Amino acid sequence: MNKKYEVAIIGAGISGSALAYELARYTDIKSICILEKYDDIATLNSSEKANSQTIHFGDIETNYTFEKAILTKQAAKMVEKYCLQYNLENEVIFSHQKMALGIGDKEVEFMLERYEEFKSLFPNLQVWTKEDLKKIEPRLIYDFDHKERKERIVGVGSIGEWTTVNYKKMSISLIENAKREKNKQVDLFTNSEVLDITKLENQFLLTTKDKKIYADFVVVNAGAHSLYLAHKMGYGLDYSCLPIAGSFYMTVKKILNGKVYMVQNPKLPFAALHGDPDVAQNGNTRFGPTALVLPKLERYKNGTYLDFFKTLRFDRVILKIFTDLLKDSDIRNYIFKNILFEIPIINKYLFIQDARKIIPSLKMSEIKYAKNFGGVRPQVLDKNKQKLMLGEASINSGDGIIFNMTPSPGATSCLANAKRDILQIVKFLNKNFNYEKFENELIDKEHFDEVKINDENHKLFMSKIREEIRLFEEKYYYSSSYTEDLPDYWEKPYSPWRNKRDHWSF
Ligand SMILES: Cc1cc2nc3c(=O)[nH]c(=O)nc-3n(C[C@H](O)[C@H](O)[C@H](O)COP(=O)(O)OP(=O)(O)OC[C@H]3O[C@@H](n4cnc5c(N)ncnc54)[C@H](O)[C@@H]3O)c2cc1C
Repeated sequence: MNKKYEVAIIGAGISGSALAYELARYTDIKSICILEKYDDIATLNSSEKANSQTIHFGDIETNYTFEKAILTKQAAKMVEKYCLQYNLENEVIFSHQKMALGIGDKEVEFMLERYEEFKSLFPNLQVWTKEDLKKIEPRLIYDFDHKERKERIVGVGSIGEWTTVNYKKMSISLIENAKREKNKQVDLFTNSEVLDITKLENQFLLTTKDKKIYADFVVVNAGAHSLYLAHKMGYGLDYSCLPIAGSFYMTVKKILNGKVYMVQNPKLPFAALHGDPDVAQNGNTRFGPTALVLPKLERYKNGTYLDFFKTLRFDRVILKIFTDLLKDSDIRNYIFKNILFEIPIINKYLFIQDARKIIPSLKMSEIKYAKNFGGVRPQVLDKNKQKLMLGEASINSGDGIIFNMTPSPGATSCLANAKRDILQIVKFLNKNFNYEKFENELIDKEHFDEVKINDENHKLFMSKIREEIRLFEEKYYYSSSYTEDLPDYWEKPYSPWRNKRDHWSF
């Protein structure tokens, strides 16, 4: 079969599906195809079993800077707005309470400080004391003997927000809606692994085992394989891909009412362990993800070991990045602990010790290793900077092909990433993007106004909350450090540009 399209997308995960939708709905590009290796949409990282199903807004992700949270919130709102526009509530998008938990003096103070700063961006954020948590999320508080945990604890979170998405279902919806656009040709080819991409004079030739597809512009949204395909064409040779698998543990029944995140050690590249209601498993709680280097590009699929070695492009620089990472004791311990989390028999015993930081009374009989759950985060190593990159990476060749690598929170940013790519595509193809329609439908208009909220009432409120916590904790112990001025904990990893930002207007 030979066919020609204006734009060809490789990969029908959430990134490829979002791009197909936006191209069909907001541009005058007429013909789009999506080539997917497997027999269905979103079977890898965008599957409901592979990720934590979280819409990352930046409110409970304590390692996000304020600036990063501004951007992630805008991207996250796009996902929310899309789902609401098509009435996908409780089928694709779900609402739970959510919080980040501070446990012990240091973390509690950290969370209160962070709350004060982030409330302008997230006006619905609340601070929950131990008494509040007893009502909202009781299993966070009581131990095996139904006694209250002794440490100071605070939850910063919100109720009534859209928090959770089944990204597989969203991918399916995006492609269906793309196909519904009038006067557009949107073709999805499953079982169509792109084996080769050739740059011809004014177009690209994509070869699968039984098709030859020609396209004026190509976007490779192939997850961990994007860099593999880029390298094959001689692009992105300064990058390597380090696949970090994430696994989960599942409870046998629902034990949390909402999402519970923990304070993140800012040195560690991945989210701290969290508990989430799994919307595809009757709301049973899923703990994780773990983080383990895996020498293959796809989880739970045969092969891809060789693809891993080719994409890693191991050399002295990569060795240096690894040894630098291992020099840090926090990172080293984290890596070893996560290896142990995968070793049968001892894994559950070790994992539960960590999970009990969230739920002190968690019993061995209540959780099991979630077999066939989890995915691979294609983390990018930048050889020039000799560093592990924490977020997403995109290679725009400038001659009509883009390659996207999408570790977490890639599912949340699918629509924002698609817009970024579309601006390049329409420029290159001399086509048009309907900004007005895009902004009307997907941009949250109130977003920037929220940042301007006056601080005074919140300061008063915060001092009351601190006082309440102090009185409550005095029932258990008196910590002399508590009366001291504590604000500088952990050098505020979330606000490195704070002073500068005070002069900004959003
Ligand atoms: C453990 C874990 C937890 C996560 N939690 C979250 C979360 O809570 N929230 C969040 O926002 N993000 C989360 N993420 C990240 C998120 O899952 C990914 O960023 C997102 O799913 C990436 O989507 P994608 O479409 O880019 O890639 P994928 O979903 O991996 O899709 C790539 C597609 O390309 C296809 N493909 C590959 N090679 C070829 C080829 N040669 N030809 C044709 N097709 C090809 C694959 O078959 C696949 O369908 C998590 C990730 C992991 C691993």
